[in-house]
This record gives sequence, structure tokens and C-alpha cells, in this order.
Amino acid sequence: MTLAHNFHPTVLREYDIRGIIGKTLTTDDARAIGRGFGTMVVRGGGKKVAIGYDGRLSSPDLEAAAVDGLKSTGLHVVRIGLGPTPMLYFTARHLKLDAGMMITGSHNPPDYNGFKMMIGKAPFFGSQILEIGKIAAAGDFATGEGSEETIDIQDAYVDRLAADYDGTRDLNVVWDNGNGAAGEILRRLVKKLPGTHTLLFDDIDGTFPNHHPDPTIPENLEDIIHKVAEQKADLGIAFDGDADRIGAVDEKGRIVWGDQLVAIYSKDVLAAFPGATIIADVKASQTLFDQIAKLGGKPLMWKTGHSLLKAKMAETNSPLAGEMSGHIFFADKYYGFDDALYCAVRLLGLVSRLGELSALRDELPEVLNTPEVRFQVSEERKFAAVDEIKARVKAEEAAGGPEVNDIDGVRVKNADGWWLLRASNTQDVLVARAEAFSPDGLERLKGAIKTNLAKSGIAAPADF
Ligand SMILES: [Zn+2]
Repeated sequence: MTLAHNFHPTVLREYDIRGIIGKTLTTDDARAIGRGFGTMVVRGGGKKVAIGYDGRLSSPDLEAAAVDGLKSTGLHVVRIGLGPTPMLYFTARHLKLDAGMMITGSHNPPDYNGFKMMIGKAPFFGSQILEIGKIAAAGDFATGEGSEETIDIQDAYVDRLAADYDGTRDLNVVWDNGNGAAGEILRRLVKKLPGTHTLLFDDIDGTFPNHHPDPTIPENLEDIIHKVAEQKADLGIAFDGDADRIGAVDEKGRIVWGDQLVAIYSKDVLAAFPGATIIADVKASQTLFDQIAKLGGKPLMWKTGHSLLKAKMAETNSPLAGEMSGHIFFADKYYGFDDALYCAVRLLGLVSRLGELSALRDELPEVLNTPEVRFQVSEERKFAAVDEIKARVKAEEAAGGPEVNDIDGVRVKNADGWWLLRASNTQDVLVARAEAFSPDGLERLKGAIKTNLAKSGIAAPADF
């Protein structure tokens, strides 16, 4: 019998493994992912791997199949059961295991599911994910006599989260778990924190009956904004489906975006680590990079993608990094992985010590932003178009034109603000964004994006 296995071509991706249950992702795939990943762990000298799963209906079956696959390579598998992704990362680090695997569809629709992995302290992504496909296609799996145990890590995890709360004034907090995987942990966590806590949708339900668990979409924050007003709360905190991304709302009901949160956290982190490097992705506001510099830190703009940011953080020994999307990483007192529950504890401490969240947010200058605008383009043209635009704006820069950062697509900075065009890693689209100090400036920046796209034969949507 051959164990060779081929995956649906859309499943092994740049940052994670993801598919539609029963269509592109099955339990057979999960078993092969367990075998392929386990093979890489074993061949790297690893012996023990942690595994957990989120609250999606398909997750327990995928986990059981993946455990089978992992054990067949000779690994000892530590099963932690249902919980948020950062609890799995915590388990691997806290128990000093060699690797971790999380079954989660994160913020994707209910019929999706997927896998996030780590080996050692590092995220597992890019060519490593493709390697699983190669091993599986060749049936080149390690084999051995594996074993398993089931543990309860919840108390240790909640204790670790609560240990870094450093508030001085009791807060009134609303939490929106969006029926995601963090529900039980959240219930236990708030019992360990002072103040008043109101929990919305803390029941874990993979059908997501109330709203979708993605706090980057403003409509998903309507419930929490309403509750913050009703409770006259100090702030609201929301999570995505597996709680590796945070969303926040100030006491006035305004959304505080991921890059604004990083600016707020920078205050604390740079007080403890003067001059440290703080990293944010190319989509983040200029006001964040300016604020880091103003606080005496070294701002570093890096590629979008949580695995890339995590890797850059380790390389530069940075104590804090974050993305617009709400993936935020603390390595000053914590492990450097994206844990929205931990981020929440740190935010409560800050707000408790330093004043209301709205005042902290308003220390950043007001700017005008476009949302992320997506331009459909064929897969073949996607990177070529960005390269053409890059060549053009770089030539303009060389001739004395605006400053260009080409770490991930092109980000062009001028007196009006900045604009960004980059190829999506996950879809056949170019993603654009602009940020300006004035409405006229924003129109000029949008005009520059449209002109550059038109020169490469790409039409902007009528409403852009
Ligand atoms: Zn997530």
C-alpha cells in the first residue's frame, strides 16, 4: 500500500493550510498533513508535538486524523483539545515541545478550516508548507511507533495571561468573543482580572450565529460598540475566530485599529526598552512609524503577513510588532507570538494606568485613509504589474520624485501622505491603500494610484 497523497492545489498556501471542508479539505488530507509535518519534525530531530483545535464543527475530526498522521511518524503527541490558537503556541513554548499544530479556520467562513504550525520557536510557512506537499506526493513519510497524551493546559495558560496585568484602576470592559474558540479561556481570564467585565457571545459555536468573528470588518463590531455605550464601559475588546487577532473600541465607541494599538503599546514597550526596534507592516499608518520615532524607538516597515513579521521580529530582536489586521506580537515579557488575549491584558493595564483609551488614541494625528481597495488582475499579471509600477516610481524617485519603499509592493510617500500598491499573497488582486492629511490630498493620492494602474493596463473600479 502506498501512502502517497496529493492535495487540492489551492490548499497548501503561503502562510497556512486552508480549504473548504468536504470539497478541497478532507480528513484524509488532515492525516497526510500530520504525516508530512510529522516527518519534517522527526527529520529535524524533534520528538514531541502539541496539537489543538478551534470551535469549528469540522475541527475535532480533522484533529483526530492529524493525530493519527503525527503518531505514524513516531512522534509523541500532546493533545490540548479545544481552545484559541495562542493557547497552542503557549503549550509548545511552556512545555518546551519541539513543534505545534493548530486546526483552525481563523476568521474564514464556517465551511472553511485549516492548519497553522510551528517548529521550535519559529512559524512554519512559505516553502516549508510546500515541502509537506512534496513529501506527501512522494509518499516519503517517516515511520515509527508514536504515542499520545491528553492534557489540560487551560489553568497554566490563564495564569500566564493574567500574570502580566499591571493596572492600577478598575475598568469596565466589554468583550466580544464572536462565538470563537477563546470563549472558555475568556470566562476564566476575566475572573482573574479586577474590574467589571461583560462578555458577548462567549459560547463557542462554529456556526457563528451572531456575527462573523473578524474584528477588522466594522459591521462585526456593531454589537460591541452598542454594548460599550450601554454599559458606559471604558473600552471594548474583540477577537477573531481563533483569538490570534485583536480588535478594540474606545469608550466613545470608535474603532481603534491594529496599527493604532501598536502605537499605544509602543509607549510602554519603549519606556522599558529605550531605542528598541518596533515593526509594523506596509499597510500601517505613517502616524505609527512617526510615533515610534517620536518615542525614541526605531520604526521598521516590513512585509504584510503574520509569519513574515514574526520571523523579522526574531531576526531584529524586536520587543513589539504588529499588523493592521490585528496580529500583534509582544516579546518584551512574553513569547513573541500573536496572542490577542495577552494583547488584551496589556491594553487593560495601559488604559488603567495611563487614562482613557480615546485619549491614548488621540495622541496620534488625525489622518484620512482609504479602506483596502482590491483590483482584480490575472495571476500571471499580478506580480508583473507591480514590478512595472515599481520600476516607474523608482525612476521618478531617482529623478528627485517622491520617496519609495519597495519592501512589499510599492509604498510612495509625498507631501500629501502615502499610497501603497501590492500584490495579494492569497488572491488574484492588487491591493491599494492611501492615507492623507487632507481630503484634497487623498484625492491626489488616489489619482496617482489610478494613473499608475492605467499605465499597466489595469482599470480602477468606478467608485474608487
Ligand atoms: Zn486568526
